[in-house]
Formats: sequence, C-alpha cells, structure tokens
Amino acid sequence: MNQEEILKLFRDSGALLTGHFKLTSGRHSDVYYEKFTLLKNPAICTLICKAMADKFRHLEAATVVGPTTGGLIIAYDVARYLGIEALYAEPGENGRIFKRGFSLDKKQKVVIVDDVQTTGRSINEVIELVRSYEAEIVAVGVLLDRSGGQVKIDYPFYPLATVAADSWEPSVCPLCKRGEPLTQRGSRQF
Ligand SMILES: [Zn+2]
Repeated sequence: MNQEEILKLFRDSGALLTGHFKLTSGRHSDVYYEKFTLLKNPAICTLICKAMADKFRHLEAATVVGPTTGGLIIAYDVARYLGIEALYAEPGENGRIFKRGFSLDKKQKVVIVDDVQTTGRSINEVIELVRSYEAEIVAVGVLLDRSGGQVKIDYPFYPLATVAADSWEPSVCPLCKRGEPLTQRGSRQF
C-alpha cells in the first residue's frame, strides 16, 4: 500500500477528524488521526499490517515489539504475517516494560512497530526497553508519521505514510483565539 492508499483509508473510514484537538503532546491541532477507527476493523487492520510486514520480511527478525494499545494490535498481526512472535511493551513507572514473562535475548533481531507517531515518545520508550536487553533493532515501522518526518528515529524507519499536520502550543493556537471548543483525544488522556 502506498501513502495515498493509507491516507484514503483514514479519510474513507472517518478516521481523519477535523476540529480543535489537544494532542498527547499537549499541543493543539485542527486534525486528529483516530487510528482506532481503523484498528477496530480487523479487515482494514490486517491490510495495513500486511503492508508493514512486507517491508520487514527481508530483515529476518525474530520478534516484533509494539507498545500498548494500538501498537500491540499491529505487532500481533505483523508478527502473524512474518511467522514470528510478538511482544507487547506496557507502561511502567519509568517508560515501558515487559510483563507476562516476556524477554529478549542479546542480539535477537527485533522490529518495533506502532500506530500513529506524533512526538516519538512511545517509540523511543520501546527503543530504550529493547536496548536494555541488548537486542538488535533492525527496523522501526509506523502506520502514520504525523510529524512530517520531524521526529528522528535512530534506526531504519518505515512509515507507511507521512503527513505534516499543523499543531501549535496552546498559547499561540489560532483555534483557541477564535474560541473554538477543545476536544481531548489520545491514549494518555483516557
Ligand atoms: Zn487551541
């Protein structure tokens, strides 16, 4: 799937919302990519995950790691296509942790996946977790990079689509200035 096909999926399924949103980062934006409108539909989700898996197939990874919650769904299905295991990185006191007896071996080849990247925070937390096991990160993939490529990832990076969506600090947000009601979305809010 190319970038236009991915963005069309967001538009056609109603996952591209317009309005006045407070993002996880605290910044405000006039667009919000509600990934769960895509991920709740297994038929669509699996199309996306197959497209991701095809990008990683040549890397011969042993494990896919994704952060809860959206990244978990993607990690599971990408791993299914690759015929390898999926581990889930859950929130801990400081950054991400493995629970449920999950672990990685030294030099084990790992692909990290997530859904929509805005600030890179979740991905970087997972990178730190995987590095703590001295496993080898061979690629990082996301469904959508809405930072427009602004967030730098230290490993080969495979976004299925990249968009530069405007966002503002609340103090300079034009929608706040116009008095538009603010909607709060995102995993860290609820
Ligand atoms: Zn605002």
